[in-house]
Amino acid sequence: MSFFDELPQRARGMAGAVGEKAREAVDSAKISAAILTEKRELSKNYHAIGQWYVCEHSGEVPEAIADVVAAVRASQEKISELQARREAAEAAEAVEEPEGAVCPVCGKISVSKFCPHCGAPMGE
Ligand SMILES: [Zn+2]
Repeated sequence: MSFFDELPQRARGMAGAVGEKAREAVDSAKISAAILTEKRELSKNYHAIGQWYVCEHSGEVPEAIADVVAAVRASQEKISELQARREAAEAAEAVEEPEGAVCPVCGKISVSKFCPHCGAPMGE
């Protein structure tokens, strides 16, 4: 059998190899995605274990994780502190003086020339 006689078979073989490579690439991408999904699941579960541990062990913790637990508690304290500051800032914003003039008749505050509540001229 000459080279030319074998050609269709060789071509088929090459196409098969290319197809195989493409399939392997797709499989590889699918496997990578599955690994990523599983790693996220793992992280989520490790996270749950850590959260449970810190909640359950408010006192002494093993030396090996003392630093991490201390960092978690420091973050929790910092978050509480920041939330309190945010609430204080929001409260301060709420009581801030509204802009405008005081109506000489009803005492409401408005920026318009005439009081929107009683219609009296606002004056200066
Ligand atoms: Zn008024």
